[in-house]
Amino acid sequence: MTGRYDVVVVGAGIGGASLAWFLSERASVLLIEAEAHPGLHSTGRSAAFFAESYGGPGVQPLTTASKAFLHRPPAGFADGPLVTPRGALHVAGPGAQGALDDVERAFLASGVAAERLDAEGAAARAPLLDPAWRQRALWEPDCTDIEVARLHQAFLAGARRRGAVLATDAPARGLERSGGRWRIETAAGHFEADVVVNAAGAWADEVAALAGTRPLGVQPLRRTMVVADLGAPVDPGLPVVFDVAGSFYFKPDAGMIWVSPHDETPAPPSDVQPEELDIAVAVDRFERATTATVRRVVRAWAGLRSFAPDRLPVYGFAPDAPGFFWCAGQGGFGVQTAPAAGAMAASLITGAAWNAPGVDPERYAPARFSGV
Ligand SMILES: Cc1cc2nc3c(=O)[nH]c(=O)nc-3n(C[C@H](O)[C@H](O)[C@H](O)COP(=O)(O)OP(=O)(O)OC[C@H]3O[C@@H](n4cnc5c(N)ncnc54)[C@H](O)[C@@H]3O)c2cc1C
Repeated sequence: MTGRYDVVVVGAGIGGASLAWFLSERASVLLIEAEAHPGLHSTGRSAAFFAESYGGPGVQPLTTASKAFLHRPPAGFADGPLVTPRGALHVAGPGAQGALDDVERAFLASGVAAERLDAEGAAARAPLLDPAWRQRALWEPDCTDIEVARLHQAFLAGARRRGAVLATDAPARGLERSGGRWRIETAAGHFEADVVVNAAGAWADEVAALAGTRPLGVQPLRRTMVVADLGAPVDPGLPVVFDVAGSFYFKPDAGMIWVSPHDETPAPPSDVQPEELDIAVAVDRFERATTATVRRVVRAWAGLRSFAPDRLPVYGFAPDAPGFFWCAGQGGFGVQTAPAAGAMAASLITGAAWNAPGVDPERYAPARFSGV
């Protein structure tokens, strides 16, 4: 394969795919993916929820700005709903209930809908919580599940309908700028483009180094998910339950419970696998916070959440390399922010007008890192 494009996007996870969909309305786009199937890495390993409180106040505007798209996507975009109601319950452990006040203040400051619940209200939402964990709670009604595979495929298929090309089994091996254009060497051929987008997830710093651009310190952190059988089908109406101290979250799925011990272990970019210890910690934290017993761990997986040093995502042209655009550092919020982030990033590349309440693209610019 060979060819010339306006933009080559490196990485076809949700970051690259959403950007390609928006970009391909105005530009010729090639999406190159190292794997045979896009979605093998972080995008295919998420917990699949949308929660405006997740990721902190710097991320929340992008999440909130994505809400309308996820609830009401353009006609013909996807073959079914992208979100389904779930709700989130924020709880605190014995002696730590005061932390809920800080969380409530953060909700108020951000304008994200939340409701204070007493012990009775918390028990009604999540009867399996141990009484010590449900003396009071905060209810986030707008939290939803996301149909991640459907959203990802819709971005990819829609981009192709708009003329974008997807090349799989095509790891970028060389990125060189000469004569005002990028030359991209891949295992599947070589290409030229005015702009290269670094949407390589955990590999973002490696792709920057390939281009001779200064890496930003994007750090992949391993996160484990455990699917547990509680011996009886789990109520499908259970919300996502978050410990405000960040020691676990859990949610129901197909009669089982998904539990994460909220681990953040630095790991090199790779096809990361779960560790036995993290699985055991997940089960232990779930059992301590509930009256339920895990009968069997059905399966477990791990994925990488990749963060820039300030834990905000990075969208914008590198100050030290013309035509090199960062689309990285989506941490644990890359799916729920994809619609707004993709639209914002596309507008920064094409110059098309775009804005959303509360979203300041400057906040996410790579130039914020000193010395770059
Ligand atoms: C356990 C877990 C739970 C999560 N839960 C949620 C959640 O509930 N909600 C939410 O919004 N987010 C969640 N996230 C975060 C979300 O999954 C990520 O933010 C998002 O998937 C990142 O997308 P990405 O496209 O940047 O990365 P990826 O999906 O990893 O895509 C990057 C792609 O780049 C490719 N690539 C790398 N190097 C090259 C190269 N040299 N050439 C070509 N291709 C290359 C890779 O093969 C990969 O396919 C979770 C993450 C994990 C791990």
